[in-house]
Amino acid sequence: MESKFSERVRRLPPSKFVEVMRLVMGRADIIRLEVGEPDFDTPQHIKEAAIQAIKEGFTHYTPREGILELREAVARKLKRENKIEADPENEILITDGGLGAVFAAIQSLVNHGDEVLVFDPAWPRYFQEVLLVGGVPKRVFLEEEDGFVPDVDEIKRYVTKKTKLIILNTPNNPTGAVVPKNVLEEIGDLAVERDLILLLDEVYERIVYEAKHFSLATHSDLKDRIITVFSLSKTYAMTGWRIGYTVSHANIVEAMGSVGAYANPCRTSFAQKAAIAALDSPQDCVETMVKEYRKRRDLMVDRLKEMNGFSVTKPPGAFYLYPRLLLDMKSPDFTKQLIEKAKVAVMPGTAFSIKGEKYLRISYANSIEKISEAMDRIQRVVRQLMKS
Ligand code: PMP
Repeated sequence: MESKFSERVRRLPPSKFVEVMRLVMGRADIIRLEVGEPDFDTPQHIKEAAIQAIKEGFTHYTPREGILELREAVARKLKRENKIEADPENEILITDGGLGAVFAAIQSLVNHGDEVLVFDPAWPRYFQEVLLVGGVPKRVFLEEEDGFVPDVDEIKRYVTKKTKLIILNTPNNPTGAVVPKNVLEEIGDLAVERDLILLLDEVYERIVYEAKHFSLATHSDLKDRIITVFSLSKTYAMTGWRIGYTVSHANIVEAMGSVGAYANPCRTSFAQKAAIAALDSPQDCVETMVKEYRKRRDLMVDRLKEMNGFSVTKPPGAFYLYPRLLLDMKSPDFTKQLIEKAKVAVMPGTAFSIKGEKYLRISYANSIEKISEAMDRIQRVVRQLMKS
């Protein structure tokens, strides 16, 4: 059967996410710290806006670029929070989550053989999406001792005549790193110098603690070579609503809108109305969630440190820890043992990095009670493993 599949599909490596998901799906006995989504419910006022839209019969196709009213709300938000000036008529596209924007950007820009710089560790979708179009993903490694923040001189070493795009995610999944303004600006200078495009995935922009998130597209002279990806998924606990947005040069936005429409002609009508409510309403719900994430992060870091089985730091953003395993075993084995013996699921670092055999990604998008219980269980397994 596989021989009938397109070369494109055969190029894709098996998903490590799916491997773990298969082990834990439908198992109520497992505490799920492997998932990449908020455990909070979507705030009530956002749900109400969708219900209202449905009641009013707003249930049909919409323009492929998203309804103008939402693009205008996005433009106001970009100006207010990111200091990005964007024309809602042609520089903003509403997408199927952040993922829809990443997909459309890569489809629109990357030719067969084009090189794309992707950091390692990273959300694995970037590699896969580049492979899907026949592009060549080049890994630029990030190191724990640098806080997983990229270094521009290191990036330069990988830029060739074939390099088209650099994909950078800040705040970061899986490391929780937040790339500082000065580093982003250096990368912006490199993009100008070497005529590159930057795909900046900022879907975790609002989930920051000690650090401040900075959007490079603030610099209007760079805006034309930057595609910035945002999403409502993480900020408003709206992963299932599938609403994201992107801002870039009008021609890029046009191309992305056109290519994206082949997969899905428009975004869900009433979800767009809900998105307007999310962006235009007071943002206390976001602040409440971020405060809670911070408490959970601090608890999890303290508990993991106590165990002496991990090297762990407190990342300034997103809702993941990326600790290094100090035990004499590899992370895929360790995560399997955790599922079996502790009934706790986490992701092995190998899902995000070819050097991930000693790392784990642990999500703290779960309740304090569940996190405490999971830490007790992990501690028991770590003690057992240390003795054996
Ligand atoms: N970018 C990153 C770095 C992510 O972690 C995710 C979701 N896990 C996305 C984009 C896509 O999220 P969504 O499509 O739900 O907006």
